[in-house]
Amino acid sequence: EGKVTADDVDELVGHFPLCMQNLHKNLRTSKHLKHYGRRQYNLFLKGIGLTIEEALIFWRKSFSMIDDSKFQREYAYNIRHNYGIEGRRKDYAPLGCMSIITNNQPGPSENHGCPFRHFSEENMKATLIDNGIRNTDQINNIITLVRDKHYQIACTKFYEITRNLEDLNEDKPVVETIQHPNQYYEASTKLTK
Ligand code: SF4
Repeated sequence: EGKVTADDVDELVGHFPLCMQNLHKNLRTSKHLKHYGRRQYNLFLKGIGLTIEEALIFWRKSFSMIDDSKFQREYAYNIRHNYGIEGRRKDYAPLGCMSIITNNQPGPSENHGCPFRHFSEENMKATLIDNGIRNTDQINNIITLVRDKHYQIACTKFYEITRNLEDLNEDKPVVETIQHPNQYYEASTKLTK
């Protein structure tokens, strides 16, 4: 298992599920993420192999609009806390899909959550197109799954379509259903090995 460094993250984003791509994109655009977004993304990054040292480098560089003392004062503690180094020293596990879909619904200026659950239909469609899905049947198939509240199946279908694993005779995906963002990442990185 190769170690993942802070500088590797931008290159690996293509393997991330949409929830984490969305957090990454917003982090790069606003140079900031709110509390639940930081937590969701930091725990995911821990799951892909960033050590606490690399995580602190990653967040310090990403929050480029603030000075070091503000970073240390307001953010470093929580980043270490996610790694079980502060507070009750609980080593928090990366969040699974059910938890991301169900808990802490994102407000208008927040970027955490699951795009399949929390994006508007319009935004979801635009995101699918941005990701190279142009076939109307494929788009409608995902939107129908979303409307039926099958968010994880929609995510799995998205994974299949974007990796050419789709069985065209099946509306439902043929690969194992995504239950966890880190499962998505691992499946995706394995495909390219
Ligand atoms: Fe992320 Fe899970 Fe939603 Fe997929 S279904 S975008 S992995 S939370």
